[in-house]
Amino acid sequence: MSQFNLILLGPPGAGKGTQAGRIVADYGIPHISTGDILRGAVKNQTAMGIEAKKFMDAGDLVPDSVVIGIVKDRLQEPDTAKGFLMDGFPRTIPQAEALDKVLESLGRDVTKTIVILVDEEDLVGRLSGRRICRSCQAPFHVIFNPPEVEKQCDKCGGELYQRVDDTEATVRNRLEVYRDQTEPLIEYYDRAGVVARIDGAQAPEAVYDDIRAALGPIPE
Ligand code: ADP
Ligand code: ADP
Ligand code: ZN
Repeated sequence: MSQFNLILLGPPGAGKGTQAGRIVADYGIPHISTGDILRGAVKNQTAMGIEAKKFMDAGDLVPDSVVIGIVKDRLQEPDTAKGFLMDGFPRTIPQAEALDKVLESLGRDVTKTIVILVDEEDLVGRLSGRRICRSCQAPFHVIFNPPEVEKQCDKCGGELYQRVDDTEATVRNRLEVYRDQTEPLIEYYDRAGVVARIDGAQAPEAVYDDIRAALGPIPE
């Protein structure tokens, strides 16, 4: 694999953000998280952020046109030349088709879609205990992955906070949205023969070992 045009797919709480940090560090590709980009826009109260906030707070998807625009712009940046890791995008069939089109126009395609699978009962517990760094967005968990110092990021010392959409009612809706709109993407990428299914119920290190095995050696 000379290019690493990677997609991380899986339900909310599967561990995409957790694994993304390791993958991008090892493979030297940028982490493109539409959730992080949208939360940044909400925080800065840009027009896009104000529009997106109502969908995000309810656990619904932001309209395709908005996220497709974000990703198209991001793929123009030179740091994506050797590849990228999409985290939380695509989430609908139209988004996947739009991504295929952009990549095709760049003479590229999806190298691998890593699907992290976790049972639904486990996801609620993961999401309700999740804490995120305000500065670098690294995810922690009050029980499963606690920071060394309470409420402080191990990586950058930033303050940890709980996302407003990580409440039980919103989580239930997000899981339903995942099942209806995002899960069909597994079949979409199966047709392209690029899916690697990973058991996400294991400890984070074991999950990462399986991802590494699926991706193959790190390029020189
Ligand atoms: P999680 O990591 O828990 O799966 P994300 O941070 O990826 O959640 O997304 C948070 C919210 O941002 C979503 O519930 C949705 O409202 C919005 N969002 C992020 N990515 C997309 C996308 N590709 N399409 C539509 N909405 C998105
Ligand atoms: P996603 O980006 O898919 O929504 P995260 O990476 O943010 O998921 O993980 C969701 C929560 O579950 C976080 O609190 C994280 O610390 C925790 N977590 C991630 N991977 C595991 C794992 N393998 N076992 C237990 N908890 C995990
Ligand atoms: Zn941090």
